Amino acid sequence: MLNTWYYSDAPRTVRPMLSVMRRQSGFAEIIGDIDQENATFEARRCLSCGNCFECDNCYGVCPDNAIRKLGPGNRFEFKYDYCKGCGLCPSECPCGAIMMIPEEI
Ligand code: SF4
Ligand code: SF4
Repeated sequence: MLNTWYYSDAPRTVRPMLSVMRRQSGFAEIIGDIDQENATFEARRCLSCGNCFECDNCYGVCPDNAIRKLGPGNRFEFKYDYCKGCGLCPSECPCGAIMMIPEEI
C-alpha cells in the first residue's frame, strides 16, 4: 500500500567490515557499529509503513475539505459528513495510513 514514488532513492548505510585476515587473528567484532551520523541517515530512510507522518498530502488533495488538521503530533480528523468517498486521500497517502472501508447500508 506504499506509494514509493513519493520517496527518494536512498541506499542503505554500509557498515565497516573486518578484513578476513584480522578476523582470524582476534576477537574483534566482524561487523562494526554504525556511528551517530549513519544512524541518523538510516532513520531518515524509514518509509513509515502504515503510520501517518503528517505529510499533509491527504489534507491537500481532499476536494471537499473533509479532513481537518488536529495540530502537530495529533494527526487528522476525517469529517465523514463531508466526505464523498472519492478515494483520493488513500491513493495519495505515501505510507498507506488511510484505509477505506465500504459503508454497510
Ligand atoms: S475520500 Fe473523502 S476525505 Fe478522502 S479525499 Fe475524498 S472526499 Fe476527501
Ligand atoms: S494520512 Fe497519509 S497522506 Fe495524510 S498526512 Fe498522514 S501520511 Fe500524509
